[in-house]
Amino acid sequence: MSLDDWIQSPRSSRVWLNESMTALGQFAFIAPIHRVKHWNPTTKKRNKCWAKEAECIFCKNNTPKINEFTYGIYISEIKEVKHLTLTIASHTECQKIFSQLIDEGINPTDLVFKFEKGKVTTTFGRQTNGYIIEKTEEEMFVAEKFRPSLTDSEEQTYRWIIPEEIVEFLKERDGQPITMIDLFLILKDRFPAIEEKELKKYSVKLCEHNILNLMNARQKWI
Ligand SMILES: [Zn+2]
Repeated sequence: MSLDDWIQSPRSSRVWLNESMTALGQFAFIAPIHRVKHWNPTTKKRNKCWAKEAECIFCKNNTPKINEFTYGIYISEIKEVKHLTLTIASHTECQKIFSQLIDEGINPTDLVFKFEKGKVTTTFGRQTNGYIIEKTEEEMFVAEKFRPSLTDSEEQTYRWIIPEEIVEFLKERDGQPITMIDLFLILKDRFPAIEEKELKKYSVKLCEHNILNLMNARQKWI
């Protein structure tokens, strides 16, 4: 197997491969960080999409949207997580491989994969550039005790301090004006099984200056 070195950003932890390059990597976690970006083909620039519910300035300009999935990988025995961004097509393929492995009782983060930059088929059947991964028999670079938990990612540094079913129920109203009392009454009506004392606490947390703020439903815990 002839291998290339990952190309590394001098300024960040990002790594990537150019067309037809192949390199080895071990996933540090299998739940990637998901970001929506706008890609302007003319300026060749990526811009973060600022839209929460409505549209950002790039949405309004009809700048195409792309989904980025950033995984943490180890590229050597050095216990330093590097970041590799995949498109939706490569991400979907990786997740398929991970679930097959998990079904077989294999922890995907225990394996070293061969990453190849080449053509990937999208769900629409189009060919696009992406990463193709294949498991290898190589010895793992970094042992489990030195790695973050299996599903660790930026998202998972938060934990819900309010039951997810409540957050799910209130999703449509996020950012809308509401008083604490009204919120409490809505919750009491919808979740009669939850103690009123608890519902009051949730209402206090979620109601910020008479605006429903679901960001307060989560708390950073690491
Ligand atoms: Zn946007």
